Amino acid sequence: MAETDRSIRQLKGVGEKRAALFCKLGIDSVDALLRHYPRDYKDWSHPCPVFSDNLERVCCVRVKLLTPVRAHYIRQGMTLYRFTAADASGPVTVTFFNTRFLATRLHAGETYLLCGKMIGGPTRRELASPEIQPADFTGMQPVYRTTAGLSSRQIEATVRAALPHLPDDPLPDRLREEEGLCTLREALFNIHFPPDEAALSRARKRLIFEELFLLQAGLLCLRQKTEARTAAVFSEDFTAEFAAALPFALTGAQRRAIGECMADLRRPRPMNRLLQGDVGSGKTAVAAALCYSCAKNGFQAAVMAPTELLAEQHYATFSKLLSGAGVRVALLTGSTPPAQKRKIKTALADGSLDLVIGTHALIVETVTFDRLGLVVTDEQHRFGVAQRAALAAKGNNPHRLVMSATPIPRTLALMIYGELDVSVIDEYPKGRQKIQSYAVSTALRERVYGFIKRHLDAGRQGYIICPLVEEGETDTGLVPAETYYQNIAAGAFANYRVGLLHGKLPPREKDRVMRAFAAGEIQLLVATTVIEVGIDVPNAAILVVENAERFGLSQLHQLRGRIGRGQWASSCVFLSDARNEDAVYRLRTLCKTQDGFEIAQADLKLRGPGDFLGRRQHGLPELKIADLTTDLDLMQRAGARAKALLRADPTLQKPEHAALAREIERMFSENFST
Ligand code: ADP
Ligand code: MG
Repeated sequence: MAETDRSIRQLKGVGEKRAALFCKLGIDSVDALLRHYPRDYKDWSHPCPVFSDNLERVCCVRVKLLTPVRAHYIRQGMTLYRFTAADASGPVTVTFFNTRFLATRLHAGETYLLCGKMIGGPTRRELASPEIQPADFTGMQPVYRTTAGLSSRQIEATVRAALPHLPDDPLPDRLREEEGLCTLREALFNIHFPPDEAALSRARKRLIFEELFLLQAGLLCLRQKTEARTAAVFSEDFTAEFAAALPFALTGAQRRAIGECMADLRRPRPMNRLLQGDVGSGKTAVAAALCYSCAKNGFQAAVMAPTELLAEQHYATFSKLLSGAGVRVALLTGSTPPAQKRKIKTALADGSLDLVIGTHALIVETVTFDRLGLVVTDEQHRFGVAQRAALAAKGNNPHRLVMSATPIPRTLALMIYGELDVSVIDEYPKGRQKIQSYAVSTALRERVYGFIKRHLDAGRQGYIICPLVEEGETDTGLVPAETYYQNIAAGAFANYRVGLLHGKLPPREKDRVMRAFAAGEIQLLVATTVIEVGIDVPNAAILVVENAERFGLSQLHQLRGRIGRGQWASSCVFLSDARNEDAVYRLRTLCKTQDGFEIAQADLKLRGPGDFLGRRQHGLPELKIADLTTDLDLMQRAGARAKALLRADPTLQKPEHAALAREIERMFSENFST
């Protein structure tokens, strides 16, 4: 049984100051400390020859001291110790500072193990400040992620002190044995202090399995919570009526997605569906069709966007598509005047409004509905799992649709959206023109301006995207959007109507600029990435990105998605002088393909899953040891086990599942508390 006090203050050598340093690493309890797995190991068991392929690498050598340790006084308080040692392959010069104690323990003629970064050249080897152990020392020494003032060695010592205070094993014994996994005790000992490679890999396997099991069991628990009955059963499908009034014909993919959703909506169990479609694939029309059927069936719908700008744009689109048919729509954001807000909330509570469109927080936190039937969340990758769950708790278990433009590989989607069904729009509306993309150096900026002007003169509109410049970054040569705007508005584009849009503008001003751009009053919009998500102006046909190397691959893809949305041939120009491999690869990939899926794969390869799926992106708990892109086999096995276990004990009531229930709650606690 775990003790109740799990604070690391109870451990030997951890006072207030040390505890504060651990906190910096996110470690506030014995459990968190034990889960602070080493990021690497020094392998004392497998020394390499002094002269081997080890230059510039941390390695371990077994050498005999040829000379006594000599001290060189450099200045007050600074002594350099130096000796020469060798193995069969040749000699190595060893230096270290100020460690008299160490110097007195080393004797000429004796053999020692030294571990450190090997430097030197083809004929010379040198180790500066290596760690030293007796010749018969074996095992692997953990190397931890550290912070200033707290060394890997100090963390190691604290971990040793913590190991006797083991937490309960969240994996039930039987399951663990059937999977052939070691105990938590063995795993934690061996992940920190592996006696050999085999023990380490046993420990890793067990901990990876555990992490993936907890994650998937947690997601299944979430899903169960939403699997209650819903009061909103749509008895009729009004899609045909909706489609007849649309200014365009729905694509096959849109029709299929609507059909899949409608099948859900007609059942008494709440829909939980992810609608995935690349930028410009027409997700909004799918959502509008569902909202239409929702209203016609006598239920209310809510559409939530991550920004005010997007909410306003959706409001315009939905009003246009739905209000003609008598659907009563309102917009609710932070800048809605208080009196208006009150009126809207009253109307939602008494049922005299059919559809509210707004920013996420506002709707979740402040609105009650009369008979909420459907909740649509746009650009869902900005929201976390828990935020999705928070809404499910509202009203009578409404149906939920989340829309995402982030194309993620299928295995990852299964994991991240584990509690959701998935519909995919894999077809663009007809008549879309391919976007021509170019990466050019800034020496050609004048010509690029000429290129923009040709588009504007032909009646099209365009964007110039500037990177975000943080305060204190002014010496980087980056030009803030505002300055850029002033320059071109008075200079190169003096004869055109130029606008400026960035995140720090007051909401009202942003709104005014976007409206003016949508209405064609502004021809060229200088903007930061505030326009990255969802903005839809089909007449915009050219997009230029300044300092394109400052943006991520997926981000540039999203930005490019702002053009090529109408019948016009569109062009995208990435301006950059960056020569580094990453930047060149990113821009080359974008010029080569427009396929969001292919781009996501390349991005994943470039950044690794940790970054690609950064916490903000998916809202999942952070994974400490599992790798969602490589541990697929364990992921599937853990998933199957999680399913079976929850089928047998849906609420985790059995005593043997108590530790599991606690651990899941802890893992998702940040999520649940939003
Ligand atoms: P996204 O999937 O990126 O949210 P939108 O829903 O904003 O894309 O749609 C992009 C553009 O395509 C909009 O201007 C929309 O009116 C238009 N559109 C959507 N569906 C169709 C269709 N079936 N035919 C023609 N145009 C369409
Ligand atoms: Mg959209």
